[in-house]
Amino acid sequence: QKLLKEKKHGMKILVGGPSTWQWLWREDMIEKLGVDTLVDGEGEKVIVKLAQMILDGEELPKYIYVSGDDVPSIEDIPDIKGGSVNGLIEIMRGCARSCRFCSVTLRPTRYYPLDKIERELQVNVKAGIKHGVIHSDDVLFYGAVGILPKPEPLIKLHQLVKKYYKTIAWSHASLAAIRYSEEKYGLVSKLMEIVYQDGNQNYLGVEVGIETGSVRLAKEIMPAKSAPYKPESYPETVEEAFKIMHENHIIPAGTMIVGLPEETEDDVYRTIELVDNLRPYRSILVPMFFVPMGYFKNKDWFTRVKLNDAHIELYKKVFWHDVYWAEDIINKFYMKGPLYYPVKLTLKLFLSIAKRKMKQVEAMLESKLRQ
Ligand code: SF4
Repeated sequence: QKLLKEKKHGMKILVGGPSTWQWLWREDMIEKLGVDTLVDGEGEKVIVKLAQMILDGEELPKYIYVSGDDVPSIEDIPDIKGGSVNGLIEIMRGCARSCRFCSVTLRPTRYYPLDKIERELQVNVKAGIKHGVIHSDDVLFYGAVGILPKPEPLIKLHQLVKKYYKTIAWSHASLAAIRYSEEKYGLVSKLMEIVYQDGNQNYLGVEVGIETGSVRLAKEIMPAKSAPYKPESYPETVEEAFKIMHENHIIPAGTMIVGLPEETEDDVYRTIELVDNLRPYRSILVPMFFVPMGYFKNKDWFTRVKLNDAHIELYKKVFWHDVYWAEDIINKFYMKGPLYYPVKLTLKLFLSIAKRKMKQVEAMLESKLRQ
């Protein structure tokens, strides 16, 4: 109500950020909440134009997709002014792998110079932040030539960030880059030596996109995701990368996309096979419903109605993988020290209830299938 009152006095509401696409599925809310403009993409340059239009009393566009000259160069991106959420430190933008379901890849690749990263670290430290996340859609891409990671920029980056932060995580890394960096340079091990050497942390968290275990689907929707390895060896690349992470105490949250427009039941069974093969490696797996982004923007959103038997099997497999490793992670890595015993106990209790419930659900599903 207060917002609507202010709007009557000329206030404008502009929204943006990585999830702007969600508004396009709830156009009724755009009207209801009085949003004037949706900015889809990086806003540093267009926001100046929009502010000028507001000051000049011009009518604002309902939706802007930022492209071409409106995409900011490194020089156009100002330093952060205050502490960032979760101590997040952006190191680059864009990704060259061109996965068809991804909006990040539609933006050009730009690396932040180390002095800019250092200035932003100093802003965070001044705000009292001691722990943070290195943010890129593929941290190992920092300073890369094409899609091939290079040791020197990554080593310098990690030395710099650890100079300011006690503990760090990576926001995202690609599995092919993890495999390539380690096989070619032993680079993942070298980076983890830098991360762990001060004794402040003994593991590193990261989100990795597995997406699918199906070679057919991988070739169709993300032919460059496995590069420099062939798409035919994508499941092997996933397994190798998980092995490397396991050995280096990197704990990945591996996301998978369920319900892609071209997905067949056989593709889902290939993903189930991959989940089986990942069992020896410490990780949490996260199957997520397909949402239409990137080149798939105009496709249907996957809904519960389209779940088939293979999807249910996949979710069951993932559940048992996750509870198995969640217990290990809680015991060996998270929340060390007596202070955390009550929280650890609660988490363990939650896991044991979840396991009991899942067994009931499985028994119910099986009896239904037998009928
Ligand atoms: S590797 Fe990740 S960030 Fe890059 S295009 Fe594919 S999904 Fe997007």
